[in-house]
Amino acid sequence: MLKIDDIVTGGLCIGCGLCRAMAGADRISMVTTPEGRERPVVTGMLCDEDLAAINAVCPGTGIEGADPSSIPADAETDPIWGPALPATMAIAHAADPEVRFRGAAGGVLTALGQYLLRTGEVEAILHVKASPDAPMRSVATVSETPEDVLASAASRYGPAAVLADFDRVLSQGRPFAVIAKPCDIGAVRRAMARDKRARGLVRYCLTLVCGGASDLGKSSDVLDGLGVAERDLTMFRYRGHGNPGPTRIETKDGRNFELTYEDMWGDEVGWRIQPRCKICPDAIGESADLVSADCWPGGGPVGEDEGFNAVFARTGTGRQLLERAVADGALTIVRPIDFRDLDNFQPHQVRKKRALWARLEGMKAAGMAIPRIERLRIEEIAATNDAGVNEREREGAMERARNGRLGEPKPVPG
Ligand SMILES: Cc1cc2nc3c(=O)[nH]c(=O)nc-3n(C[C@H](O)[C@H](O)[C@H](O)COP(=O)(O)OP(=O)(O)OC[C@H]3O[C@@H](n4cnc5c(N)ncnc54)[C@H](O)[C@@H]3O)c2cc1C
Ligand code: SF4
Ligand code: SF4
Repeated sequence: MLKIDDIVTGGLCIGCGLCRAMAGADRISMVTTPEGRERPVVTGMLCDEDLAAINAVCPGTGIEGADPSSIPADAETDPIWGPALPATMAIAHAADPEVRFRGAAGGVLTALGQYLLRTGEVEAILHVKASPDAPMRSVATVSETPEDVLASAASRYGPAAVLADFDRVLSQGRPFAVIAKPCDIGAVRRAMARDKRARGLVRYCLTLVCGGASDLGKSSDVLDGLGVAERDLTMFRYRGHGNPGPTRIETKDGRNFELTYEDMWGDEVGWRIQPRCKICPDAIGESADLVSADCWPGGGPVGEDEGFNAVFARTGTGRQLLERAVADGALTIVRPIDFRDLDNFQPHQVRKKRALWARLEGMKAAGMAIPRIERLRIEEIAATNDAGVNEREREGAMERARNGRLGEPKPVPG
């Protein structure tokens, strides 16, 4: 069992906030560290039982693939991509042109969130939006209307503690859906496995494919480069309004700036991806009902387009949602795809999944704690790598672990 500080200093925390939701804000606070990460700080007494309950749900201590009982018999399991229902794999977009335009890619997740509210299947959507007071930062939000969902469309690339109020949302006793990153969904699934209330109320888990969450420092660097102070911001939109859409920054004194996706992400050295992401064995949402991803051939945009997503359902729940949303006119399907198309759209995810087992072995060899990983096939995938790949990944991770690059400082408020 790991203490909260050990999870953080061991580089395993992604700042989802679920530990705070479980312990309560009087015993765990989420703080923004000087590195620009949201991290839990214990401010009250946590007994062994509390810590065991947190360890059982934290996506830093354990990461699991899909619950086999949720996967229909006609699903296919690809070694890299995990389970999916082949007939649901498609290029798609929101049917509503405004949703398509404002969404990160084709607006599929936003359209599905709106559809679930409109049909009354859920009463709320738990997801993420720009902080109203500090728009460079992201906060958890509970959308109750289709307009709310649209207002929270598009990707937020810094830290986002989407589950910090999970317990409060549960206590409202309303059926809801969660739209969040794969690690957040993994945490929700772990909570559902332990908590009957969560099993009853969380009706859908929808996710995106995730290349990693940056430190807030990445965004601060962008502001510094433009000579803008954070307190002067009225808007920091990372993406959307096109596919991928510009990063748009507006200030109180009427200045505005736009950066292309290439300006933001062209230089990988400046990404400032959080340590947990570097050892993420499931950035493709294996425990979600449905996945929505980018679908640029080769893995990156060559310019703007009208907005498209690669989508697929993993569970029967995801399949029936997708089929009904298409039949009722909320989503438009463009063409079918298969697992090899996903390889083409997401070459970085294929590389990462292949490297993961050896990276974790390297961390272990350097004496670091690693998460317990189940049903994600990482050892089997590593066994199919070309000679030398695993050794290089293992050595590299061991070196980085020894240099402290896979760990983090003990969190203090920034
Ligand atoms: C950190 C990050 C890394 C990503 N990396 C990749 C990648 O490698 N490959 C890829 O295909 N796609 C990646 N995406 C996803 C991509 O940007 C699109 O979000 C995805 O294709 C879904 O598009 P959409 O149009 O359906 O989303 P939308 O309809 O715009 O809906 C996006 C939803 O995600 C929620 N959300 C946004 N940011 C966050 C966040 N930080 N944490 C939790 N929930 C959030 C929003 O609240 C909204 O409900 C990443 C997204 C994020 C946030
Ligand atoms: S990953 Fe989430 S649950 Fe685990 S320590 Fe970090 S904030 Fe808490
Ligand atoms: S890479 Fe993994 S750990 Fe990092 S934000 Fe994405 S899903 Fe979470």
